[in-house]
Amino acid sequence: MKQNLLDFEPAAMAVWFAEHGEKPFRAKQVMRWIYKNGESDFDAMSDLAISLREKLKQLACIQPPSVIREETATDGTHKWLLNVGTGNAVEAVFIPEDDRGTLCISTQAGCALDCSFCSTGKQGFNRNLSTAEIIGQVWWANHELGKHEEGNWPVTNVVLMGMGEPLLNLDNTVSALRLMLDDHCYGLSRRRVTVSTSGVVPAMDRLRDECPVALAISLHAPNDKLRNELVPINQKYPLQELMAACLRYLEKAPRDFVTFEYVMLAGVNDGVHQARELINLVHDVPCKFNLIPFNPFPQAPYQRSDMETVKRFRDVLMQAGIVTTIRKIRGDDIAAACGQLAGQVQDKTKRAHRLAEVRP
Ligand code: SF4
Repeated sequence: MKQNLLDFEPAAMAVWFAEHGEKPFRAKQVMRWIYKNGESDFDAMSDLAISLREKLKQLACIQPPSVIREETATDGTHKWLLNVGTGNAVEAVFIPEDDRGTLCISTQAGCALDCSFCSTGKQGFNRNLSTAEIIGQVWWANHELGKHEEGNWPVTNVVLMGMGEPLLNLDNTVSALRLMLDDHCYGLSRRRVTVSTSGVVPAMDRLRDECPVALAISLHAPNDKLRNELVPINQKYPLQELMAACLRYLEKAPRDFVTFEYVMLAGVNDGVHQARELINLVHDVPCKFNLIPFNPFPQAPYQRSDMETVKRFRDVLMQAGIVTTIRKIRGDDIAAACGQLAGQVQDKTKRAHRLAEVRP
């Protein structure tokens, strides 16, 4: 089987080239063709010797996930459903704005963590994505959207907030992050790449040591009792441990704050007293809050908080000096909004089956 070069982070690419009798700078040359030029055809890599191109054609390929379906929302948000084999598909979403283009990518086919408000979590879990399948989403989006006139790729920011928990697929996630950051690849600033986690505390420490980028935490509740229900991994890593891990992360992070994501669920976590409880919870942690209007999905057990309630909640946090934004709803006519990414998952946990049995 041919080696997919998208599976190699920069150091591993150099090792592979050396194993095949090639100098390390050849690895960098090829990476520049793949990521800077978006090339997948070895014959087009015109500054490589013809003998090397022939060798690469024999041994290797450049293979992002293939597209099953793509859709564009009226606000320009673009969503791809990408085939990752054996009946599984993941989603990537591009959100264009005036000064940036943000790509939200997936790291797992499904998710095992079963957050109660999350459409992805309801589908169960199949497997971790490979490095090629993670970085391939960035490669594909840039390739499809095409360079701007001035020669820049449209994807300027990447958020790992799609399907899956990135820190439960840490090795492949870190390899993909290194490709996003490396100057011979996409050369993105660490501040423009954000990993979102539900709070896998030991892996937060590893990410900090191996490849620190901006950090977002799916918080969603101000106390352990409620968070145990909404984000079940909280039972393993409760809030005080999570807050301590945030502080440790910030020692090496490229930004001097953590972003707390907080989905607003009517009558569940959106009360003024809960905003005050949050202020106490995070008082040691430099942070911003991002309030997310809940995006209902079929059989969702929650309702979206009304905008008046969301603004009141924001105002309480702001009065305590915490910068708080309300996320704009983007792409919800194509189910590309936060928590709506669905893909297709061959559930190995049989969760979807169990849910179907217990739900009316
Ligand atoms: S919110 Fe994130 S961690 Fe929780 S089930 Fe959904 S994808 Fe998994």
